[in-house]
Amino acid sequence: MNNYKPDTLCVQAGYAPKTGEARIPPIVQSTTFVYEKTQDMADLFDLKSDGYFYSRLANPTVSAFEAKVAALEGGVCGIGCASGMSATSLAIFTVAGAGDNFLSSQAVYGGTYNLFSTTLPKLGIECRFFDPDAPAEEIEKLIDGKTKMIFTETVANPAIVVLDFDKFAEISKKHKILFAVDNTLATPVLCRPKDFGANIIIHSSTKYLDGHAAALGGLIIDAGNFDFKANERYSSFNEPDESYHGLVYADLPVAFGTKCRAQMMRDFGAIMSPQNAFISYIGCDTLALRMERHSSNAKKVAQFLSAHPKIEWLNHPSLKGNKYHKLSEKYLPYGQGGMMSFGIKGDVKKCAAFMEALKLITQETHVADARSCVLHPASTTHRQLTEEDLKKAGVPHNLVRLSVGIEHPDDIIADLKQALEKV
Ligand SMILES: *Cc1c(COP(=O)(O)O)cnc(C)c1O
Repeated sequence: MNNYKPDTLCVQAGYAPKTGEARIPPIVQSTTFVYEKTQDMADLFDLKSDGYFYSRLANPTVSAFEAKVAALEGGVCGIGCASGMSATSLAIFTVAGAGDNFLSSQAVYGGTYNLFSTTLPKLGIECRFFDPDAPAEEIEKLIDGKTKMIFTETVANPAIVVLDFDKFAEISKKHKILFAVDNTLATPVLCRPKDFGANIIIHSSTKYLDGHAAALGGLIIDAGNFDFKANERYSSFNEPDESYHGLVYADLPVAFGTKCRAQMMRDFGAIMSPQNAFISYIGCDTLALRMERHSSNAKKVAQFLSAHPKIEWLNHPSLKGNKYHKLSEKYLPYGQGGMMSFGIKGDVKKCAAFMEALKLITQETHVADARSCVLHPASTTHRQLTEEDLKKAGVPHNLVRLSVGIEHPDDIIADLKQALEKV
C-alpha cells in the first residue's frame, strides 16, 4: 500500500474489509471488548499481541484513521488524539519530564505557543524558542544534554513561515535529537516531512484532514527512523519500564509510538473518539483533491489581493516575491495550501469594515476547511497585546488571516473585491 501516491492512499489506505464486511470502517462505539480466555487478555496487556481491550488505548475506528494518516506520512505508527493540542502534549511527554528541555520555533500556532511558554514550564519542562530563519549555529547553541526534541511547523500558523527542513534535519542528526514537525497546514499531500528527515509528525486533524469543520482531532505519527538504542539523551527508552514488566522501548521495532500509547495515552487518556475518527477518516478521502483546489484558489487570490491598491502587503509562498518562495519550491512543489495573511492599508477600523463587508467569506476562529474564512487577530485572538507586542509576535495590527476554501475562485475574489470597495 505504501508505494501508492497520496491521492490513492487518501481513499484506499487505513482499512481493508474482508469478504462480507462493511466497505468503510464501522463506528465501533464501544468502550470495551470481550475475551473468552484470560491468557488472551493478559497477552494484550503485556503488549505481546495486537488487539483491542479498552477504547482509551485503542479502538478499531480510530485505528483505521491512524493507519490512513500513517500511510500518507510514510510512518510506522499513528496515534489518534482528542485534538491537535493533546497530540503535541503527548508527543512532548513521551520524551521529556521535569528537568528536561526542548527547542521550538517561535513561529508556531498560538495554542502551541501558550503550552510551550506557560504550561509546560510549570511542570518543569523548559521550552527554548528560536527564530526558524536563524542560522544553524545559533539554534545549536540552545542544545544541551537535557534537550529532548526540536519542534517546528512545516507552514507556520499564522506567520506562514515555510520550514527549511535540511537545516533542522542536519542539526537533529548531528546531536541525535528527535526532529518533530507539525504538518497541519501542509498535510502529507503537499509535503511529507519524513522525506526531509523528520522523525515525529504531528497533526491537528481538525483542519484540512477532516476538512469540513466537523470533528476535533489530532495525530502523532512515528516515522520509525530514529534510533533510541544506547542514545544517552533518551535514558527512559533504554531503561526497563517497570509499569510494563521491564519492557525496554528502544528494543522494540516501534519505540516512540509504543511508549506514547502504552504510557502516555494510558495515563493521560486524551484519545480520539470513534465518532470523530469516522468523520475524519471520511473527510480524508478527498484530501488530495481539496489540497489541489485550496492551493490553486489561494494562488489566484494572492495574485489579486497583492495587486490591489488597498492592500499594503501579502504573505503567501506562491508569490515570486515572497520570502519563502524558494523554500516552497523545494518542499511544497505541489501547492502551498490555502492559508495567507495580508495587511490592509490603514488602521484596525479599516480591517473591521472590510471583514464586516464580506458576504461569502465568514469571520471565524477556524482555518483550513472547505469554506473560506477570515480572522483579525489584533481584535480577537491577540486583542490583549499592545501595538508594540503585536509587532514582536509578527502579528501587526492590520494583519488579516485568510483561509481560502474550495469555492469557485471567481466567487471568492468577487467577494474580496466588493468588500475592499467599502473600505
Ligand atoms: C489548530 C492547530 C493546532 C491545534 O489543534 P486543535 O485540534 O485545535 O487542538 C496545532 N497546530 C496547528 C498548526 C494548528 O493550526
